[in-house]
Parts: sequence; C-alpha cells; structure tokens
Amino acid sequence: HLEVRDVVKRYGQLTVLSGVSFAAQRGEFVVMVGPSGCGKSTLLRSIAGLEEISSGSVSIAGHDITAAEPSDRGVAMVFQNYALYPHMTVAQNMGFALKVARRPRSEIDAAVTRAAEILRITDHLGKYPKALSGGQKQRVAIGRAITRAPEVFLFDEPLSNLDAALRSQMRIELSRLHRELGATMLYVTHDQTEAMTMADRIIVMNGGNIEQIGSPLDLYNRPATRFVAGFIGSPR
Ligand code: ATP
Ligand code: MG
Repeated sequence: HLEVRDVVKRYGQLTVLSGVSFAAQRGEFVVMVGPSGCGKSTLLRSIAGLEEISSGSVSIAGHDITAAEPSDRGVAMVFQNYALYPHMTVAQNMGFALKVARRPRSEIDAAVTRAAEILRITDHLGKYPKALSGGQKQRVAIGRAITRAPEVFLFDEPLSNLDAALRSQMRIELSRLHRELGATMLYVTHDQTEAMTMADRIIVMNGGNIEQIGSPLDLYNRPATRFVAGFIGSPR
C-alpha cells in the first residue's frame, strides 16, 4: 500500500537517508525505531512531501507521489509537538485542511463531529488549544489527521510529551483507532513498549539505513544484528 524505494536524502554533504526501501500493506501498523539522528523524522517528512528527496520514489496505492504536493499525497502527519494553530478553536483546527481544500461546510462539520466522537473530545470543540491539556491537544492533532481521511497516517513520536499514565491510555486508543479506521500507519517512537505492543511489524533504522524489518517476535527472537538485539532488548 505504501511503498518507499531507494530513498536517498542529503543535506549538503550529509547523507541522512542512504537508500531506504520498504513496503507497508494496507491496514498495517508499522513502527519505526532507531537512535536519535538516524533519520526517522526525515523519512516521515519525505513521505509526507515536507522534504524533497535527493533520489528514490514513494508511492501509495500504486500511485507515484514522489513529486506530489503534501496536500495531494493521501497522507496525514501527526507531530510530536502537536503543531496546532493557536488562534483557531479545536473544531477549526480539525477542519482546516478540508476548508483549504474547499470542501463544503456540511462535509467539514460531519468529518469534525465524527473525529471528535472517535477521540472523545466533543466537549472541547469550541475551546482554543491553550485551554487544553497535553493529552487533549494530542487528540486534536490526531483528529486533524483523521478528518483528512488519509490513505496513510504518519506519526512522529506522538505520545512522547505525555506522562506515563496518559501514554498507556493513548496507546490503547490509538490501537482502537487503527482497528476502526483500518488505515495504514507508520509510527515512529523511542518507546520499546509502544513498539512491541502496537506494531504488526517493526522497522529498525540505524545511520540512515534499515537494519531489519520484522514482527516484534521475529526481531526479539531472531535479531539480524547485534545492534537490533541491543535495541529491541533481546537476550543475545
Ligand atoms: P530523533 O530520534 O532525535 O528525532 P531522527 O531519527 O528523527 O532523530 P532526523 O531528525 O531525521 O533524526 O535527523 C537525521 C539527521 O539529519 C540528523 O543528523 C540531523 O541533524 C540531520 N538533519 C535533519 N534536518 C536537517 C536539516 N534541515 N538540515 C540539515 N541537517 C538536518
Ligand atoms: Mg525525529
């Protein structure tokens, strides 16, 4: 469903992604882990069209989107810092992309209402982001992605700013969301528990390359490299 082929990304002399290839099936929940600076955010931003890649290609549902505008790619990205618009209410934040796309008011309202129900933030629709808790802000950020009904969701450490209790609650809700929407999700995290409990498959990145892709059990039982073993925490 999502296919990334030989993606290379350079910033001047620095090669951040050195030929990354993988494919995710429709509806698959793929978690990406790897040390700080290995290129995870750069890869997500490249898939979202927020970075121009140096070479390689990205396609979704068989369509090559390598050169498409971010809004035309069928992807929605959720950022670690929420990136909400402070001057817009929750409802306006969630409907903004549809408004920009000139969708009819009735469709925008229906999409926002539905997303708010899924995320249980209906009571907060009229509030501004500054009046929300961290967890509520993160729900709005996820809601903003849901209203766009993307083919592929990209999450960049979406729960890392939340406390442990809220993180485990949101983990369960994200898994539920994934089941309900049946969407393809690519999810970056530093959290071992998130990776092991949420992933259909885990991608282990290191230094701009993929070290291994496999189910949580595969990686744990059969790590391909010492690096993977160390990262996943398998006894080797
Ligand atoms: P973290 O886990 O800390 O979020 P990451 O795996 O997401 O790390 P990236 O943010 O993708 O890492 O960064 C990968 C490398 O690319 C880093 O060495 C970073 O310094 C570099 N980099 C990222 N953005 C730019 C940029 N705009 N210009 C130059 N170098 C950049
Ligand atoms: Mg990052």
